[in-house]
This record gives sequence, structure tokens and C-alpha cells, in this order.
Amino acid sequence: MKHIAILGSTGSIGQNTLAVIRKLPDKFKVTALSANASVEILSRQIKEFKPRFVCVGEAGAAKKIKGALGAKVKVFSGPGGIKSLIGAANIDKLVLAISGSAALSPLLCAIDAGIDIALANKEAIVAAGPVITRKLKTKKARIIPIDSEQSAIWQCLNNEDRAKIKNIYLTASGGPLRKTSRNDFQGLTVKRVLRHPRWRMGEKITVDSATLMNKGLEVLETMFLFGIGRDKIKVIIHPEAIIHSMVEFIDGVVLAQLSITDMRIPIQYALSYPERLACGSTGVDFYKLRRFNFERPDCKKFPCLQLAWRAAQEGGTLPCVLNAANEVSVEEFLKGRLNFISIPYVIERVMDRHRNVRQPDLGDIEEADTWARFQARWVIDKLKYQLVIVWLLYFGIWLFHLVIII
Ligand code: MG
Repeated sequence: MKHIAILGSTGSIGQNTLAVIRKLPDKFKVTALSANASVEILSRQIKEFKPRFVCVGEAGAAKKIKGALGAKVKVFSGPGGIKSLIGAANIDKLVLAISGSAALSPLLCAIDAGIDIALANKEAIVAAGPVITRKLKTKKARIIPIDSEQSAIWQCLNNEDRAKIKNIYLTASGGPLRKTSRNDFQGLTVKRVLRHPRWRMGEKITVDSATLMNKGLEVLETMFLFGIGRDKIKVIIHPEAIIHSMVEFIDGVVLAQLSITDMRIPIQYALSYPERLACGSTGVDFYKLRRFNFERPDCKKFPCLQLAWRAAQEGGTLPCVLNAANEVSVEEFLKGRLNFISIPYVIERVMDRHRNVRQPDLGDIEEADTWARFQARWVIDKLKYQLVIVWLLYFGIWLFHLVIII
């Protein structure tokens, strides 16, 4: 019986993890759960899975939950609460499903505690790749990827010598805008962007999938997780999303990992590793599929991918800046305060202004993250003012014509 802690249990990955555990009660026991704000869902999860430790984002919500649970469950709150939870609970595997770079501190804490991490979050490793890889070398903790592409690479690489890798092909479904013309990007609504053809995921990652930033972040994630140079990583569009990635070796052999698009498959493998367990998946129907398609990604249409290549090339604190500026831009887009087409513009402006620190420590990463968020907000505000000025100018010209006509 493995004891599992899930950080971010109310999000898409968290709920899918619990769905996997629900079907395998003799293999896994939920020992701890944490959520930021979705207290209602968390309460339902606590009732069903009976964890001994819980952490909630806000102290007020923690009090409410504590009142309802009694003394049997230990309730923590806030970012410090997650640290206490990791220290107190008996954890065999920690599922890190918190979205965004908020996952960095719990990730570092779990590595320090020597706990194996099933990692769904990519932002933390993108932001602090050099720091995390250095830390992993001195601790017994391992990172087992949940992200479908990284899980695929990890499975293909099983016991293979990494020096024998020629290329890694990161597959991408192409996202919800693969067939949309760039001319139509200007007026894209949040609702339209959130309509992904293959995967059901959280909002942030679905927007990243639409800009192809998700694939860009995965390029960086692959570099740091597997210690592979950027020049060996290729991105390839594969709209069927059945091949989740491929590894080509120096002898020309390519190993690929295939499955239907269901996040519960990589989640279950990350939980059960090194064991493989049966699951209710229907499997790939090759007779029905008949063919696979591949395309080169269009970096002109999706400039975010190009920006990620640049961050991968320059390294240092630039990947952290790319990630932070992207997080702010996506957040603003989801709130309807930034145009979809302006997302790469904002990220690029912030990257251009950054003074890169080539060998960053954790302090440099944190500083770059805060700086980039501030800069991104500043660029977005400037865009809004520019828009107001343009409108005023138009209005002035219109008024001027009106006066002349009269
Ligand atoms: Mg992925």
C-alpha cells in the first residue's frame, strides 16, 4: 500500500489522480490533500478519501474545515502549511498538481524531505531548472513525470544510456487553434480558446496549448528533466495525439509511447511505478485510426514557441522570466483584460528588458520571477493606455470632421 499526498487536489490533475486511486483502493491510500480555494470540492474529497492531513490556502477556510472534521484530521493553511504537511505526513509519493510557479516551493521542500514526486506541474521546473537539478543530485528524491509527453519520454528511456540519444520528438496536438487562421486571432474569445479538441485540462494549460507555449515550456521541461541539450529536442505536430513523444537513438531506432488521450494513464503509471497496473482504458484502436499525421509547427503563427526556444538557448534566468510573463499574460487574458494576440508581445517585451543571470541560485530565480511579473503588468497597462489614446485620437478626428461638415 502506497501512501499518496496530492497537492492541488481540486484541479483537473488532482481530481483525475483521485479517480485513479478510487479504482485501486488496495494499492493506494490518500494520506494528505491540499487545495488553494475550492473548499467545497476539497470537503467532498476529504469525506470520501479520509486523509489524515489537509492544507487549505486561506486560514479562514482552514478554520471552517477544522470545525467540520474534528481532531482526527490535522489542518494546515497557507504556503507554510504545505511545508508543515510534507514534514508531518507519512508520504511514499507526492503528486504535485498545483498550477503555475506556486509549485516551486513545495517541490523544493519535497526534494529536501527525500520524497518521490509525481510531477504534473511544469512551470516550477521551467523557472528553476538549474536549481532543482542541482538539488536532486544531492538528495534521494526522484521526479516521476505525469505530463503525458515527459511520461512518454521517460518510459522510452527506461534503462537506456542517455548518451545514446540522437533526438527527442516532443509531439503536440497543435492545440485548439491549429486550423484557425492567424488573421482570426485578433478577436478570439476566452471561450473559443478554451475549447481543446483532444485534452480536457485546466484553463491555464489550455490557453498555453492554444499559444503553443505549453509545448515551449515542455521543451524546457525536457531539457531539465532528462539533461538533454536543446538541439536534440524537436517539436512535431501530431493532431491525433496518440503518440505522446518519441526518442530516437544513435542507431536510428525510434521508440515511441502510444495511448489514448486520457490523463489517468500517465497519472496511474507515475503512482504505480515501477509496477504497471491494469486500467479501464479501451486502448488504441489502430484499425479505426488507420493513419497518423505529422506537421512542422508554425513558429510565425505561434511566436510563443519561438520565445521558448530563445529562453532554452540563452538559459539562466530567462526561462523563469518567460514563464512568469506568460503566467501574468494568461491570467489577464482569462480575465478579459488582454487580447489573445498580445500574449507573445508582452512576453517578448519582458524578455528583451531582462538582464540574464547565467548561473542562477534560488535567490536569483525568485528575484527574476518577481521582476518579470511586475514588468509584464507594466507592459499590459501600457497597452491599455495606448488603446485609450488611439480611441481618443479617432474620436478627435471624427469630431473635427463633424465640425467641418456642420
Ligand atoms: Mg503535455
